[in-house]
Amino acid sequence: MNVLKNGLIIVNTGNGKGKTTAAMGQALRAVGQGLKVLMLQFIKGTWDYGELESIKKLDPYFKIKPLGKGFVRAKSKLSDTEAIENINQSWEQAEKEIYSDTYDMVILDEINYVIDFGLLPVDKMLTLLKKKPKRLHIILTGRNAHKEVIEKADLVTEMVDIKHHYSKGIKAQKGIEF
Ligand code: ATP
Ligand code: MG
Repeated sequence: MNVLKNGLIIVNTGNGKGKTTAAMGQALRAVGQGLKVLMLQFIKGTWDYGELESIKKLDPYFKIKPLGKGFVRAKSKLSDTEAIENINQSWEQAEKEIYSDTYDMVILDEINYVIDFGLLPVDKMLTLLKKKPKRLHIILTGRNAHKEVIEKADLVTEMVDIKHHYSKGIKAQKGIEF
């Protein structure tokens, strides 16, 4: 196993496309160097994401796990209480995986959005960042990253929406959006 002394806190945020896919690109690079990567998805869409198939081929070096009941956006069928309970369970699972010290890199996909949506107090995130295994690289994706998370991070990238085909009426398609 690679011994990493100082894992980085990486944040991919902004309104432009590419936050989740950039995190997966980083993971692909890491796996090639012998690092073990886990991606935890806090928000599950209704699509069959292509990456779930690709990543199966890289198991056990790169694992991807959808957490909880999934969808928590406005369209969610969950009540507020159910949504919070769902996130609390997902968070417990995420903490367990991180503290298990099994991985060299963990991606918490859409976690910024979950915090912004008020489903997870930012303090829980900050505590995790303080207590995580030192060597662990952690990548947090999602729009509207919290100010305090940005302050704590080592690397923050904002995807800027200059143009998106969606505004031309081009719908989500295989291989691009999912
Ligand atoms: P990707 O998973 O493609 O890297 P993302 O993680 O940056 O995208 P999210 O905020 O998670 O984007 O949004 C999920 C979906 O919304 C993606 O399929 C993406 O294509 C789409 N999307 C992202 N940005 C925009 C935008 N500016 N306008 C319209 N749709 C967008
Ligand atoms: Mg995303």
